[in-house]
Amino acid sequence: MKKRWMLVAMLILGISLTGSAQDATALKYAATINAQDLEKHLTYLASDELEGRDTGEKGQKLAAEYLANFYQNLGLKGPVDGTYFQKFNLASTSFPEVTLTVGKQKLVNNEDFVFIGDGSMKKAAKADLVFLGLASEENMKKVDVKGKLVGLWAIGARAQNVVSDIMKAGAVGVIVVTMEGQANFDRLAGRYKSLSGRGRLGFEEPTKQEPIFLVSSDKMAALFATPVEVLKEAAKNNPESIKAQKASYFVKKETKIVPTENVMAFLEGTDKKDEILVISSHYDHVGINSKGEINNGADDDGSGTVSVMEIAEAFALAAKDGKKPRRSILFLNVTGEEKGLLGSEYYSNNPIFPLANTVNNINIDMVGRIDYEYQNAPNKDYVYVIGSEMLSSHLKVINEYNNITYTNLILDYRYDAEDDPNRFYYRSDHYNFAKHNIPVIFFFNGVHDDYHQPTDTVDKIEFPLMTKRAKLIFHTAWDLSNRENRTPVDGTNTRTER
Ligand SMILES: [Zn+2]
Repeated sequence: MKKRWMLVAMLILGISLTGSAQDATALKYAATINAQDLEKHLTYLASDELEGRDTGEKGQKLAAEYLANFYQNLGLKGPVDGTYFQKFNLASTSFPEVTLTVGKQKLVNNEDFVFIGDGSMKKAAKADLVFLGLASEENMKKVDVKGKLVGLWAIGARAQNVVSDIMKAGAVGVIVVTMEGQANFDRLAGRYKSLSGRGRLGFEEPTKQEPIFLVSSDKMAALFATPVEVLKEAAKNNPESIKAQKASYFVKKETKIVPTENVMAFLEGTDKKDEILVISSHYDHVGINSKGEINNGADDDGSGTVSVMEIAEAFALAAKDGKKPRRSILFLNVTGEEKGLLGSEYYSNNPIFPLANTVNNINIDMVGRIDYEYQNAPNKDYVYVIGSEMLSSHLKVINEYNNITYTNLILDYRYDAEDDPNRFYYRSDHYNFAKHNIPVIFFFNGVHDDYHQPTDTVDKIEFPLMTKRAKLIFHTAWDLSNRENRTPVDGTNTRTER
């Protein structure tokens, strides 16, 4: 942020630079957030007993119970019909048998091809395999795809994006090349092989008859008995020169229902109690890997989860002393984040409190470690702050003010850069609030060697630093829940438009 803009913004918000007086009440309850408590809770949540808290598994359920008991002991309310659990079903889908035969070539799943589509068949189907090459309008005029398996050449594309037009035109399935070179394909196939047998978790959806087989460029050439260079040329504008082949395929799908739950606790506010501040983390992680090792997820996102717990405790203790926030606060620990932000998506589609009254979301995902960038920095007291000036011009200033007043961390905004390739703003649970135009702040420590590894363990957590980060978040939450006006929505979710 430019300095002059910051001054103007502070004036607008009625923040005084000279007399940045600390609020004694806020300070008193911030002091209840301490390294010992954070460590105690995290030692349990990141223990082997919880088996990496995989969504729907035993460890996730144990973590949910632990959180609910904690909130209950604090005297916080369960806002879901009196309970702390927002229960919902996910579906785990797997494809235990997929076959593809072209001419006399029998292809092996997760070696010769990778199945990335959807479908469920009673018995094998026969179809002609035609070559379309690029999915261009001209090529579509030259090759009739109706009722056919279609060979597509889509280097660098996301298969699902190119395939839908072909399926709409009446194809029964697609064999697609998205990358050149056998080695790249083999790596991908290896990854799929190691995950095979594990279902893919998502919301339950009707089966789409859309078999999509990913193959290497060499394999595609072999299927059409044509040298790869010839096929590549033909893909551009004369796909009709490539001879069609006889093919057959079969897809067997299995779906298992996986019940899971978001955990939440509610603190009712006073004169602005209909307005809600949501403070969130995801409490699930990625479970046990294919080698049987436990991914303990101490940083990801045990750290955010115990931070939410300690912040909830500070607010609950204040409330017991008659110091309730003006706005209400929802402490929200979501499930299914590692499977695609599923728990927060479910919440935002089925909110317990109206989204129109949800004033802000503060999301905490990984705040217990020091990343590559700061490993050798003289001052390691930092935190990445992401998205705080996307939807509201006030949020960043409010957070800055609380940091200057109480915690003095380095607030690093590098991931807000327009051209930042990581796109973190879109990659954790806050985005499911931001997409509904609710201004968010995402607190994050960046990535390190132990990210999504069995080595993300509690002994590597920087508890004093994490305590500071949690205190900053508490002060910002205290401010947001007590200030006169909610933060205005005067921005957008699109970085380039700012
Ligand atoms: Zn995470």
